[in-house]
Amino acid sequence: MMGYIVHFQVVKSKELINSPYNARKDSFAEQIVRGDILDRNGVVLARTTVAEDGTETREYPYGSLFAHVVGYSDHGKAGLESVANFDLLTSNAFFLIKMRNEFQDQKHRGDSVVTTLDLKLQQAASDALGYLKGAVVVIEPSTGKILAMVSKPDFDPNLVESNWEALNSDENSVLLNRATQGQYAPGSTFKVITALEYMREDLAGYPLYSYNCGGAIEQDGTTIHCFGGKVHGQVSFADSLAYSCNTSFCNIGLMLDVGHFQTTAKELLFDSKLPSVLPYSDSKFMLDVTDGSAAKMMTAMGQGQTQVSPYHMALITCAIANGGVLMKPYLIDSVTNVSGQEVKKTLPEEYKTLMAIEEAAELKNYMAGVVSYGTASVLSGQSYTAAGKTGTAEYSSDKEKDHSWFIGMTNVENPELVISVIIESADGAAKAVNVAKQVLDSYYY
Ligand SMILES: [Zn+2]
Repeated sequence: MMGYIVHFQVVKSKELINSPYNARKDSFAEQIVRGDILDRNGVVLARTTVAEDGTETREYPYGSLFAHVVGYSDHGKAGLESVANFDLLTSNAFFLIKMRNEFQDQKHRGDSVVTTLDLKLQQAASDALGYLKGAVVVIEPSTGKILAMVSKPDFDPNLVESNWEALNSDENSVLLNRATQGQYAPGSTFKVITALEYMREDLAGYPLYSYNCGGAIEQDGTTIHCFGGKVHGQVSFADSLAYSCNTSFCNIGLMLDVGHFQTTAKELLFDSKLPSVLPYSDSKFMLDVTDGSAAKMMTAMGQGQTQVSPYHMALITCAIANGGVLMKPYLIDSVTNVSGQEVKKTLPEEYKTLMAIEEAAELKNYMAGVVSYGTASVLSGQSYTAAGKTGTAEYSSDKEKDHSWFIGMTNVENPELVISVIIESADGAAKAVNVAKQVLDSYYY
C-alpha cells in the first residue's frame, strides 16, 4: 500500500495537479506559493504577491500584453498558467530553504517558468496591431522557440475574476487566442502551398512555366479576376507568386491532381494534429476529387473553403526557412527553483520534415522575389533581408472588407525570424505586411 501511494504521488502527481476536476490541486496551492512566469531575459510576466495576512494575489505587470499566451489563473486557467500549472505549483527549493520555511511556518515558493517569449518583440507586435483585430506570431525557425504571440482584441488578466461575465460573452470573442484558435481562409498566402504542389507534379516543367495574364480567367461559367483589376501580362512561375497573379494560379490549379494535392496538404499538417502546447483549431484543406473547376481555382489561390490559423501558417513558413524541417515549437525554455537554479531545460528537437530541402530552398527564393519586386516590396531595402508572401482573404459578401495576411522570414540566407500576421476585416488601408514591417523594424533597429 505504501509503495502504491508513493508511486501514485510521484508518478501521477503531474496528472493530479493539472486535472481541473481534481480538488487535490488546491491542497498543493495550500503548501506552495505559485511560481513566477518570466520572459526569456528574466522579466517577470506573472507573479504572486503575498500580503502580511497571507492573502495571495496573482499579478500580471504587463496587463493585457501577454493576455492570451501567458493566460490567467483565476476563474479556471488558460495559456501558460494552465500548461505550466504543475511546475508553478512544485517547489524544487533547496532543502535548507524548505527547512527554514517550515520552521517559520511559511509556504514554499513554487518553481519559475522561463518562457521563450521576448518582451520587446511582444510589445512591438502588440503596438503594430494597435486597435486592429488579428494576431501576430514570431518564431525562431532554427529552434522552434516562440518569441511572440499576440491576439487582439485582448483583455487584462489582472481583472479576469471581476470581468468574467463580460469577457465570456464578448461579441468579439476576446478570450479566443486568434493566433492558434482563429480559423481563416489563407488567401494568397496559400499560393506558396499551391506552388509547392505544382513543383511536385511537374518537376521538369515548372521552371519553364509561362502564362499570359489578361486580368481574368473563365472556366465552366466561373470567372476569376486578378486583385485590384490588375493585368499582369506574360508571367513566369516566380512572377506569378511575386505579383500574386490570381489568374495564373487558377490556371495552375486547373492542372493539378486533386488527390496528390490532398497528400501535400496533409504533409503540411492540414487535417492533422499540430505541435502546440496551447489549444488550437484544426486546419482544413477542403478540395475533393469530385469538385469542379470553380473549387479548384478558388482553392489554388487560397479563396475556397480551406481554413488555417496564423500559427499553422507560421509553422509552414518555419519549415521553408529551415530547409524543410519543422522544429518542434515551444514556449517553455526552462524551469528554475526559487534560487534561480535550473531544474528542467527544453532542448530544440525536430518535429517533422514537411518538404525536401530543395523544395524549401526553391520556395524561399520565390518568396524573396515577392519582397524584391512583388507585393511585399515595402520590406526591401531594409537593414535586414526578408522573404514572404502577402495575402488578402475575402470572407463575406462585403467586398469592401477582407482579411489581410502576411507570412515571411528575415535574414533570408540563414533565417532568423519567421513572422505570421493576420488582420481581420481590413479596409484596405491596414495591411498585414505593414504590421510585419513595423515589428521587424523594431527588432532590427
Ligand atoms: Zn494576373
